[in-house]
Amino acid sequence: MEKSSISIFDDNYKEITQNIARAAQKSGRSYEDITLLAATKTVDVNVINHAIASGVNVIGENRVQEFLSKYEEYIPVRKHFIGHLQTNKVKDIIDKVELIHSVDSYRLAEEISRQAVKRSITIDILLEINIGDEQSKSGFSYAEASAAVEKIAQLDGIKIKGLMAIPPICENSQQNRPYFAKMKKLFIDIDNKKIDNSSMDILSMGMSDDYEVAIEEGANLVRLGTALFGRRDYSI
Ligand SMILES: *Cc1c(COP(=O)(O)O)cnc(C)c1O
Repeated sequence: MEKSSISIFDDNYKEITQNIARAAQKSGRSYEDITLLAATKTVDVNVINHAIASGVNVIGENRVQEFLSKYEEYIPVRKHFIGHLQTNKVKDIIDKVELIHSVDSYRLAEEISRQAVKRSITIDILLEINIGDEQSKSGFSYAEASAAVEKIAQLDGIKIKGLMAIPPICENSQQNRPYFAKMKKLFIDIDNKKIDNSSMDILSMGMSDDYEVAIEEGANLVRLGTALFGRRDYSI
């Protein structure tokens, strides 16, 4: 079982790095400009460590419980939190991750600020944008995004590093292209405002089914689970 998970990864990783390089070139960039984050939910730590040893240098977990259970066993790697974060769980991960992608409310930002200040640290975050205006998803709307950056940037212990989005699930990757383009425009618009204590460095968008399109439209961080590790037995 484990052996095959590892060889699945090896095959996928090679192909994905080539796909990323090609998509980056199409948008006037190169492979080095794109961060590949391995989304590791449900993946065994041994397989994750193999991925890290193979060159993956950023991993993202999206459940606090699962993250904490694996945390001690990872070989050195940059760790991001990418899933919905409940305010009462902030304290459990705040000093263990380099970046929180999924700040989807002012209330959550306030709690991150409070916990960071308590520890005299500064936490890098991305604001999650509900780019498809979907009822089922949390996050700031396109319309309120800029005001949210201005407001949250004023909180102590927080530095806004960019934006993250999960567009609607589509049947083919091209359908998400307009959402990615809209995100890129928002990213540039906010950057141009030069809001204190924020910088638009990271545009986190694109998953297994649409990462190439996301990169073509300007993503510089893609979050890949299935494409790297194969299908999960169950979805989260
Ligand atoms: C699981 C997950 C991903 C990766 O999804 P895949 O479709 O398996 O690539 C990306 N981002 C978030 C927030 C996730 O929870």
